[in-house]
Amino acid sequence: MSFRQARWDEPPVWELDPRGGSEPAPSIPGVPDRWRRKAGLRWPELSELEVLRHYTRLSQMNFGIETTTYPLGSCTMKYNPRIGEVLARRRTAAELHPEQPIETVQGALEVIWRLERLLAKVTGLSEVSLQPAAGAHGEYAALLMIRAYFRDRGELDRRTEVLLPDTAHGTNPASAAMAGFTTRELPSKDGCVDLDELRAALSERTACFMLTNPNTAGLFESDILEIAKSVHGAGGMLYYDGANLNAILGVTNPGRMGFDVAHLNLHKTFATPHGGGGPGAGVLAANETLAPYLPVPRVQKVGRNFRWDYDRPSSIGKIRGGPGSFGLDLRAYAFALVHGEEGLKHVARRAVLNSNYVAARLGKRLERPFRPLVKHEFVLSGARLKERGVRTLDLAKRPAPA
Ligand SMILES: *Cc1c(COP(=O)(O)O)cnc(C)c1O
Repeated sequence: MSFRQARWDEPPVWELDPRGGSEPAPSIPGVPDRWRRKAGLRWPELSELEVLRHYTRLSQMNFGIETTTYPLGSCTMKYNPRIGEVLARRRTAAELHPEQPIETVQGALEVIWRLERLLAKVTGLSEVSLQPAAGAHGEYAALLMIRAYFRDRGELDRRTEVLLPDTAHGTNPASAAMAGFTTRELPSKDGCVDLDELRAALSERTACFMLTNPNTAGLFESDILEIAKSVHGAGGMLYYDGANLNAILGVTNPGRMGFDVAHLNLHKTFATPHGGGGPGAGVLAANETLAPYLPVPRVQKVGRNFRWDYDRPSSIGKIRGGPGSFGLDLRAYAFALVHGEEGLKHVARRAVLNSNYVAARLGKRLERPFRPLVKHEFVLSGARLKERGVRTLDLAKRPAPA
C-alpha cells in the first residue's frame, strides 16, 4: 500500500474573497486613541459551505497518526488512544472555567490531585505540580525554583552557571538563559556524558546540571549515579528533562537516579497528541528539598474536599493564569489507569523493542554513529546520503510522495 498525503491548492481564507467585506471598527470605551483602528475590519464574505469546505480541505492536509507516521522525531512516536480525546471533549471537562466556584469542580480537582500522586510515584520524587503549559515552561519554572533555593541559602550570587551536555534539547539552554543563568555546554564522549569533562567543569559557580536519561541519542547514561554524586558534591542541583519518559516508565525513575527536580511532557509520554500547536502540559516534579518552591496554587485535600492552596511561603508564585491544561491531565490519568503499573512497564519494554527494531532495519542503509543497543530513540548519520547530494533534512522532512 502506498500512502498519499492529501494536497489541496488551498489559499488562505482571506484570499478566497479578495474584495472582502468591511466592518466598521468596534468602538470599545476606554481604549486610548493611538491603539484604535483607523480603517474598518476586512472580513472575507463567504457562504457557510465555502467556509466548511475550506477548513475541511486544510484538515485533510494534516499529518496525523490517523493517516501515517509523521515526521517529528522521537517527541511524537507515542500512543495517543482515541478514548483520551473522547474524555477530554466531554462537556464536563471541555467547558469548565478556571474561575468556576470551587464546589462545582471537585471532580476535576480530584483528578488533578490523584494524577499528581501517580506522577510522583512514576518520577520517584515527592511532589508534583501540573501547572506548566509545556516542557520548556516546566524547565523555566524548575530553574526559577533552583534560583529561589540558592537565594534562600545565600548562594545565589555565586551559583550562576548551568551546565549541559552538547546533546541537550535546545529548550534546556534557552530556559536556563531566560531564568538568568549563564550556560556552559560540555562535550560528550560516544554520545554520553564525559565524567572527566563534567568533573572539571563543576565548581562553586554550578547551580545545576541539566540532563535527560536516556539521552537524546537514545543512550542510557550508565554513569548516572556517579554523575549525581559529582554534581551534589559540588553543591549543585541535578535537573531531569523527562519530556520523553517512555523508555523507563515503571522500570526506573529520576528519583532513583539521584535527580532533584524533573519535568515530564504529558503531550509526549502520556497520551496527548503532540505537534498540533495546542497547549501542552510540562508537569513539574520535585524532591523534598525543592518541593516548597513549586508554583502556586497547589491542590489540597481537606477531609473529603479539594481546594486551592496559595499559602506556600517559599513558592516561586504563579506561573500562568489557569490551574493547568486540564484536558491533558485527564488524558494522562485515563492512560495511566487503563495501563496500570504493570502496563506502564510494558509501554517501556515495547518502546525500547520498537526503536531497536526500526534502528536495526534502517541501520542496514544508514550509518549509526553510536553503540547499537538503544532505548526509546536512536541516531542515524546522513553521511552516506551526502555522497549522492542528498541532505539529511531531505530525508527527515521529505513530503510523502504525491
Ligand atoms: C519536546 C522536548 C522538550 C520541550 O518540550 P515542549 O513541550 O516542546 O516545550 C524538552 N526536552 C526534550 C528532550 C524534548 O523532547
